[in-house]
Amino acid sequence: MGFKCRAESQAGRTVMKEEIAMDCTAIVLAAGNGKRLNAEVKKQYLDIGGMPVVAYSLRRFQKQEFIHRIVLVTGPEDREYCQEKIVDRYGLTKVEQIIPGGNERFDSVYAGLRACAGTDVVFIHDGARPFISDEVLAKLYADVLRYRACIAAVPVKDTIKISLDGVRIDRTPDRNSIWQAQTPQVFSYDLIRRAYRAAGQAGAYGITDDASCVERYGSTPVHLTLGSYENIKITTREDLAIASVFAEKYMQ
Ligand code: C5P
Repeated sequence: MGFKCRAESQAGRTVMKEEIAMDCTAIVLAAGNGKRLNAEVKKQYLDIGGMPVVAYSLRRFQKQEFIHRIVLVTGPEDREYCQEKIVDRYGLTKVEQIIPGGNERFDSVYAGLRACAGTDVVFIHDGARPFISDEVLAKLYADVLRYRACIAAVPVKDTIKISLDGVRIDRTPDRNSIWQAQTPQVFSYDLIRRAYRAAGQAGAYGITDDASCVERYGSTPVHLTLGSYENIKITTREDLAIASVFAEKYMQ
Protein backbone atom coordinates (compact mmCIF):
# COMPACT_ATOMS: atom_id res chain seq x y z
CA MET A 1 0.00 0.00 0.00
CA GLY A 2 1.38 3.45 -0.74
CA PHE A 3 0.64 7.12 -0.90
CA LYS A 4 0.47 9.18 -4.05
CA CYS A 5 0.31 12.90 -4.69
CA ARG A 6 -2.37 14.32 -6.94
CA ALA A 7 -2.16 17.73 -8.57
CA GLU A 8 -5.41 19.68 -8.23
CA SER A 9 -6.34 23.11 -9.52
CA GLN A 10 -7.94 25.35 -6.89
CA ALA A 11 -8.83 28.99 -7.68
CA GLY A 12 -6.20 29.18 -10.40
CA ARG A 13 -3.42 27.65 -8.26
CA THR A 14 -2.12 24.17 -8.60
CA VAL A 15 -1.92 22.42 -5.23
CA MET A 16 -0.63 18.95 -4.43
CA LYS A 17 -3.04 16.83 -2.47
CA GLU A 18 -1.85 13.71 -0.73
CA GLU A 19 -4.21 10.86 -1.17
CA ILE A 20 -4.06 7.17 -0.53
CA ALA A 21 -3.80 5.44 -3.86
CA MET A 22 -5.11 1.99 -3.19
CA ASP A 23 -6.06 -0.36 -5.93
CA CYS A 24 -8.98 -2.38 -4.55
CA THR A 25 -10.47 -5.60 -5.85
CA ALA A 26 -13.58 -7.39 -4.64
CA ILE A 27 -13.59 -11.16 -5.01
CA VAL A 28 -17.18 -12.40 -4.89
CA LEU A 29 -17.56 -16.13 -4.34
CA ALA A 30 -20.38 -17.96 -6.05
CA ALA A 31 -18.89 -21.37 -6.83
CA GLY A 32 -20.51 -23.38 -4.05
CA ASN A 33 -23.15 -25.97 -4.80
CA GLY A 34 -25.51 -24.88 -1.99
CA LYS A 35 -26.13 -28.45 -0.81
CA ARG A 36 -27.68 -27.51 2.52
CA LEU A 37 -30.57 -25.74 0.83
CA ASN A 38 -31.57 -28.73 -1.28
CA ALA A 39 -33.00 -26.47 -3.99
CA GLU A 40 -32.79 -26.97 -7.75
CA VAL A 41 -31.22 -23.55 -8.21
CA LYS A 42 -27.99 -22.94 -6.28
CA LYS A 43 -28.58 -20.63 -3.32
CA GLN A 44 -26.44 -17.80 -4.69
CA TYR A 45 -28.70 -17.59 -7.78
CA LEU A 46 -32.10 -17.95 -6.07
CA ASP A 47 -34.49 -15.09 -6.63
CA ILE A 48 -35.12 -12.78 -3.69
CA GLY A 49 -37.44 -9.86 -4.35
CA GLY A 50 -36.96 -10.21 -8.14
CA MET A 51 -33.15 -10.31 -8.16
CA PRO A 52 -30.66 -13.20 -7.83
CA VAL A 53 -28.99 -13.39 -4.41
CA VAL A 54 -25.46 -12.71 -5.72
CA ALA A 55 -26.54 -9.63 -7.66
CA TYR A 56 -27.19 -7.75 -4.41
CA SER A 57 -23.58 -7.77 -3.23
CA LEU A 58 -22.20 -7.29 -6.76
CA ARG A 59 -24.27 -4.13 -7.14
CA ARG A 60 -23.16 -2.90 -3.75
CA PHE A 61 -19.48 -3.31 -4.68
CA GLN A 62 -20.09 -1.70 -8.09
CA LYS A 63 -21.38 1.43 -6.30
CA GLN A 64 -18.32 2.01 -4.11
CA GLU A 65 -15.81 4.51 -5.44
CA PHE A 66 -12.94 2.75 -3.72
CA ILE A 67 -13.63 -0.58 -5.45
CA HIS A 68 -11.90 -0.66 -8.82
CA ARG A 69 -12.76 -4.10 -10.08
CA ILE A 70 -14.69 -7.22 -9.21
CA VAL A 71 -13.65 -10.83 -9.80
CA LEU A 72 -16.66 -13.14 -9.79
CA VAL A 73 -15.81 -16.76 -8.97
CA THR A 74 -18.37 -19.30 -10.12
CA GLY A 75 -18.82 -22.84 -11.41
CA PRO A 76 -17.69 -23.19 -15.06
CA GLU A 77 -21.25 -24.29 -15.94
CA ASP A 78 -22.66 -21.00 -14.59
CA ARG A 79 -20.31 -18.63 -16.41
CA GLU A 80 -22.67 -17.79 -19.26
CA TYR A 81 -25.64 -17.33 -16.93
CA CYS A 82 -23.60 -14.96 -14.74
CA GLN A 83 -22.42 -12.93 -17.73
CA GLU A 84 -25.84 -12.54 -19.35
CA LYS A 85 -28.33 -12.60 -16.52
CA ILE A 86 -26.31 -10.82 -13.87
CA VAL A 87 -23.31 -8.85 -15.18
CA ASP A 88 -24.90 -7.56 -18.42
CA ARG A 89 -28.41 -7.27 -17.04
CA TYR A 90 -27.42 -5.13 -14.05
CA GLY A 91 -24.70 -3.14 -15.84
CA LEU A 92 -21.91 -4.41 -13.59
CA THR A 93 -19.06 -2.77 -15.48
CA LYS A 94 -16.54 -3.42 -12.71
CA VAL A 95 -16.80 -7.20 -13.13
CA GLU A 96 -13.62 -7.66 -15.13
CA GLN A 97 -13.36 -11.42 -14.82
CA ILE A 98 -15.66 -14.37 -14.25
CA ILE A 99 -13.43 -17.28 -13.30
CA PRO A 100 -14.01 -20.91 -12.30
CA GLY A 101 -13.80 -21.77 -8.60
CA GLY A 102 -12.63 -25.00 -7.00
CA ASN A 103 -13.95 -27.85 -4.88
CA GLU A 104 -13.66 -26.03 -1.56
CA ARG A 105 -14.18 -22.37 -0.66
CA PHE A 106 -10.42 -22.21 -0.04
CA ASP A 107 -9.73 -23.20 -3.67
CA SER A 108 -12.22 -20.64 -4.99
CA VAL A 109 -10.65 -17.81 -2.97
CA TYR A 110 -7.18 -18.87 -4.06
CA ALA A 111 -8.28 -18.78 -7.71
CA GLY A 112 -9.68 -15.29 -7.11
CA LEU A 113 -6.43 -14.14 -5.52
CA ARG A 114 -4.38 -15.44 -8.44
CA ALA A 115 -6.67 -13.56 -10.82
CA CYS A 116 -6.02 -10.15 -9.24
CA ALA A 117 -2.26 -10.21 -8.68
CA GLY A 118 -0.88 -6.70 -8.42
CA THR A 119 -3.85 -5.17 -6.61
CA ASP A 120 -3.28 -3.56 -3.17
CA VAL A 121 -6.37 -4.54 -1.22
CA VAL A 122 -8.87 -7.40 -1.56
CA PHE A 123 -12.40 -7.59 -0.25
CA ILE A 124 -13.31 -11.29 -0.13
CA HIS A 125 -17.05 -11.80 0.02
CA ASP A 126 -19.49 -14.74 0.04
CA GLY A 127 -21.95 -14.27 -2.79
CA ALA A 128 -24.50 -15.98 -0.54
CA ARG A 129 -24.53 -12.86 1.69
CA PRO A 130 -26.68 -10.35 -0.18
CA PHE A 131 -27.15 -7.68 2.48
CA ILE A 132 -23.96 -5.70 2.94
CA SER A 133 -24.36 -2.00 3.60
CA ASP A 134 -22.39 1.00 2.34
CA GLU A 135 -21.59 1.86 5.97
CA VAL A 136 -20.01 -1.51 6.75
CA LEU A 137 -17.98 -1.39 3.51
CA ALA A 138 -16.72 2.10 4.34
CA LYS A 139 -15.71 1.00 7.85
CA LEU A 140 -13.88 -2.03 6.45
CA TYR A 141 -12.05 0.14 3.94
CA ALA A 142 -10.92 2.54 6.68
CA ASP A 143 -9.86 -0.37 8.90
CA VAL A 144 -7.88 -2.21 6.25
CA LEU A 145 -5.87 0.93 5.52
CA ARG A 146 -5.03 1.10 9.20
CA TYR A 147 -4.67 -2.56 10.23
CA ARG A 148 -4.00 -4.42 6.90
CA ALA A 149 -6.45 -7.18 7.92
CA CYS A 150 -10.04 -6.87 9.10
CA ILE A 151 -13.32 -8.75 8.91
CA ALA A 152 -16.96 -7.86 9.37
CA ALA A 153 -18.19 -9.57 12.53
CA VAL A 154 -20.92 -9.26 15.16
CA PRO A 155 -21.03 -10.31 18.84
CA VAL A 156 -22.95 -13.58 19.25
CA LYS A 157 -26.40 -13.25 20.77
CA ASP A 158 -26.75 -16.83 21.96
CA THR A 159 -24.76 -18.82 24.47
CA ILE A 160 -22.46 -21.18 22.59
CA LYS A 161 -21.76 -24.76 23.69
CA ILE A 162 -18.73 -26.82 22.72
CA SER A 163 -19.44 -30.50 22.18
CA LEU A 164 -16.84 -32.80 20.71
CA ASP A 165 -19.20 -35.72 20.12
CA GLY A 166 -22.33 -33.73 19.30
CA VAL A 167 -24.17 -35.37 22.22
CA ARG A 168 -22.72 -34.04 25.47
CA ILE A 169 -21.54 -30.55 26.33
CA ASP A 170 -17.83 -30.28 27.04
CA ARG A 171 -17.77 -26.61 27.94
CA THR A 172 -19.43 -23.22 27.67
CA PRO A 173 -17.08 -20.46 26.54
CA ASP A 174 -17.58 -16.92 27.82
CA ARG A 175 -20.12 -15.35 25.48
CA ASN A 176 -18.55 -11.91 25.83
CA SER A 177 -15.48 -12.99 23.90
CA ILE A 178 -17.25 -14.74 21.01
CA TRP A 179 -17.85 -13.04 17.70
CA GLN A 180 -19.58 -14.36 14.65
CA ALA A 181 -17.42 -13.94 11.54
CA GLN A 182 -19.06 -12.58 8.42
CA THR A 183 -17.75 -11.39 5.10
CA PRO A 184 -16.41 -9.15 3.60
CA GLN A 185 -13.00 -10.09 4.96
CA VAL A 186 -10.51 -7.52 3.80
CA PHE A 187 -6.73 -7.68 3.53
CA SER A 188 -3.66 -6.16 2.07
CA TYR A 189 -3.11 -8.31 -1.01
CA ASP A 190 0.43 -9.42 -0.17
CA LEU A 191 -0.58 -10.52 3.31
CA ILE A 192 -3.52 -12.69 2.25
CA ARG A 193 -1.73 -14.11 -0.78
CA ARG A 194 1.21 -15.21 1.36
CA ALA A 195 -1.11 -16.71 3.99
CA TYR A 196 -3.02 -18.65 1.32
CA ARG A 197 0.20 -19.97 -0.18
CA ALA A 198 1.41 -21.18 3.22
CA ALA A 199 -1.98 -22.72 4.06
CA GLY A 200 -2.08 -24.46 0.67
CA GLN A 201 1.36 -25.94 1.25
CA ALA A 202 0.20 -27.16 4.68
CA GLY A 203 -2.91 -28.82 3.20
CA ALA A 204 -5.43 -26.04 3.99
CA TYR A 205 -6.92 -28.19 6.75
CA GLY A 206 -9.88 -26.59 8.57
CA ILE A 207 -9.74 -23.25 6.77
CA THR A 208 -13.35 -22.08 6.49
CA ASP A 209 -12.72 -18.37 6.24
CA ASP A 210 -9.92 -16.06 5.18
CA ALA A 211 -9.16 -14.61 8.59
CA SER A 212 -8.30 -18.07 9.94
CA CYS A 213 -5.71 -18.37 7.20
CA VAL A 214 -4.03 -15.14 8.31
CA GLU A 215 -4.41 -16.06 12.00
CA ARG A 216 -2.47 -19.27 11.38
CA TYR A 217 -0.05 -18.34 8.63
CA GLY A 218 0.21 -14.55 8.73
CA SER A 219 2.09 -12.28 11.11
CA THR A 220 -0.56 -9.53 11.34
CA PRO A 221 -3.47 -9.59 13.84
CA VAL A 222 -6.89 -9.51 12.20
CA HIS A 223 -9.08 -6.62 13.34
CA LEU A 224 -12.82 -7.04 14.08
CA THR A 225 -14.96 -4.46 12.28
CA LEU A 226 -18.53 -4.24 13.54
CA GLY A 227 -20.78 -5.73 10.85
CA SER A 228 -24.55 -5.94 10.85
CA TYR A 229 -27.02 -8.59 11.97
CA GLU A 230 -28.76 -8.13 8.62
CA ASN A 231 -25.67 -9.47 6.82
CA ILE A 232 -26.98 -13.04 6.88
CA LYS A 233 -25.65 -15.91 4.81
CA ILE A 234 -28.31 -17.76 2.89
CA THR A 235 -27.77 -21.34 4.03
CA THR A 236 -31.07 -23.01 4.85
CA ARG A 237 -34.73 -22.53 3.84
CA GLU A 238 -35.49 -20.37 6.89
CA ASP A 239 -32.92 -17.86 5.68
CA LEU A 240 -34.93 -17.28 2.52
CA ALA A 241 -37.95 -16.13 4.50
CA ILE A 242 -35.77 -13.73 6.50
CA ALA A 243 -34.06 -12.52 3.32
CA SER A 244 -37.36 -11.57 1.73
CA VAL A 245 -37.87 -9.10 4.60
CA PHE A 246 -34.54 -7.33 3.97
CA ALA A 247 -34.62 -7.47 0.16
CA GLU A 248 -36.31 -4.14 -0.49
CA LYS A 249 -33.95 -2.20 1.77
CA TYR A 250 -30.89 -3.54 -0.10
CA MET A 251 -32.34 -3.43 -3.62
CA GLN A 252 -30.54 -0.19 -4.58
O1 C5P B 1 -20.84 -23.23 1.72
P1 C5P B 1 -20.71 -21.86 2.32
O2 C5P B 1 -22.04 -21.26 2.64
O3 C5P B 1 -19.74 -21.75 3.43
O4 C5P B 1 -20.13 -20.96 1.12
C1 C5P B 1 -19.78 -19.62 1.34
C2 C5P B 1 -19.57 -18.97 -0.02
O5 C5P B 1 -18.47 -19.54 -0.69
C3 C5P B 1 -20.77 -19.08 -0.96
O6 C5P B 1 -21.02 -17.84 -1.57
C4 C5P B 1 -20.33 -20.14 -1.95
O7 C5P B 1 -20.90 -19.96 -3.24
C5 C5P B 1 -18.82 -19.93 -1.99
N1 C5P B 1 -18.08 -21.15 -2.35
C6 C5P B 1 -17.26 -21.13 -3.45
N2 C5P B 1 -16.60 -22.28 -3.83
C7 C5P B 1 -16.74 -23.41 -3.11
C8 C5P B 1 -17.57 -23.43 -1.97
C9 C5P B 1 -18.23 -22.27 -1.59
O8 C5P B 1 -17.14 -20.10 -4.14
N3 C5P B 1 -16.11 -24.52 -3.52
